[in-house]
Amino acid sequence: MNLIVLGAPGSGKGTQAAKLTKRFGIPAVSTGDIFRANIAKGTALGKEAKGYMDRGELVPDAIVIAIALDRIDEADCRAGFLLDGFPRTTEQADALGAHLAAAGRAIDKVLLMEVPTEELVRRITGRRVCGACGASYHVTDIPPAREGLCDVCGGALQRRDDDAEETVRNRIEVYNENTAPLAAYYEKKNLLARIGTETAGPDAVFAEIVKALGG
Ligand code: ADP
Ligand code: ZN
Repeated sequence: MNLIVLGAPGSGKGTQAAKLTKRFGIPAVSTGDIFRANIAKGTALGKEAKGYMDRGELVPDAIVIAIALDRIDEADCRAGFLLDGFPRTTEQADALGAHLAAAGRAIDKVLLMEVPTEELVRRITGRRVCGACGASYHVTDIPPAREGLCDVCGGALQRRDDDAEETVRNRIEVYNENTAPLAAYYEKKNLLARIGTETAGPDAVFAEIVKALGG
């Protein structure tokens, strides 16, 4: 099963990706996580990506495409993968499609997380992420059992550098301009499943996703 989770920043892609990994045993590939790991390690890639990320801009296609395609060629992605945060532009989507086709593979489903814009800002500014294992929380919606500490590993929860309000608004604009058109792109290929997330908490959203996948 090769999946893409598509949605604006704050739409809950990462939360649902973690649930999908747990349920179906397929690795989640997050280009944002790959860049953050490289920033933490101080690599050349991390140094290059950080400026774009802090401004809420996209990292250039050539860089992202090389990183993402290398990752899905790794052994653990052979039986399936889940892309979170890639593709984000038509160029990235074209490159992904061509690369998979050349290997006799294809995308099976694209899950579009639909969330009203006003709700996105509220969610992101309250988001906290475990610095040790990457687990994701929200100060009021998904609070950890002990304040400031990860339920999974006990690590300290942090706010991402690009989750400040001005950067968030720019990221949403960049999404609307560059990434939102991918919904029509995948709809034309009959791959799109729209996941409405207005009423639902994370578990109800996940149930809707499982239904969309035919489970
Ligand atoms: P979110 O979806 O909440 O914005 P991500 O972790 O997916 O968070 O991405 C954070 C930042 O990393 C983006 O704002 C962008 O700068 C960079 N990035 C991640 N994935 C891509 C991509 N596919 N193309 C371009 N830039 C990317
Ligand atoms: Zn943790």
